[in-house]
Amino acid sequence: RGGQAEREVPFAKPGSLTRVYAVASGKGGVGKSSVTVNLAAAMAADGLKVGVVDADIYGHSVPRMLGADGRPTQVENMIMPPSANGVKVISIGMFTPGNAPVVWRGPMLHRALQQFLADVYWGDLDVLLLDLPPGTGDIAISVAQLVPNAEILVVTTPQQAAAEVAERAGSIAVQTHQKIVGVVENMSGLPCPHCGEMVDVFGTGGGQTVADGLTRTTGANVPVLGSIPIDVRLREGGDDGKPVVLTDPDSPAGSALRSIAGKL
Ligand code: ADP
Repeated sequence: RGGQAEREVPFAKPGSLTRVYAVASGKGGVGKSSVTVNLAAAMAADGLKVGVVDADIYGHSVPRMLGADGRPTQVENMIMPPSANGVKVISIGMFTPGNAPVVWRGPMLHRALQQFLADVYWGDLDVLLLDLPPGTGDIAISVAQLVPNAEILVVTTPQQAAAEVAERAGSIAVQTHQKIVGVVENMSGLPCPHCGEMVDVFGTGGGQTVADGLTRTTGANVPVLGSIPIDVRLREGGDDGKPVVLTDPDSPAGSALRSIAGKL
């Protein structure tokens, strides 16, 4: 909207009833987007009005995981987001040609995020989830500036090395004065398909380590909201755009994700 004044971000207005969660991780590949999409789908299935902003500039994968293959359209001077499985979604990938990488610098990213929040017609949302890029980058700072009331949800694996990085990503909340709603541990063991015994592929305890560390650094209680096992159905659901919480809600991963969604 070149030349026009910036619209206010509705979610940051006092009295906004939309709960905003910024989903963060230390490293890529820990399942941050999978968690975001499944939580969104689970909450929509529970009757909530849900939106997702895919702000993961390096791995914008939310539309595919959600099965949203529509394009945003413009009505008047608002952007209408496509939706799938009851979830409205806007992705940085919808505004880059083809599969081109996003090579924007901080100010452009900030501007894009501002537009995703203020120029997209979200309607009255109960919940807005923001899928952040991994790490502690420009986007996390922009989120804190644009929606200071956004609460941070940290996703990590059980691995201690990953936990350290995730804790760093979460501790940005101290500087931005944001609340950390909790930690989700993903890839928490693989149930053996033959005997059911858990194989701790990535070790154990990472989620609790991050929660304890963030409780110390923030001085507020940061809980582990749940652990999600490794589950082929979760991965397949992501590839097919059919979130496992909808296709197989009672699978171990599906029920863990639904339980976490119920706590948000
Ligand atoms: P991130 O957003 O952190 O980069 P993704 O959500 O893209 O991570 O997940 C990375 C890959 O791991 C994807 O192929 C996804 O389907 C898979 N994956 C994530 N969590 C699980 C899980 N609990 N079980 C099986 N596969 C998973």
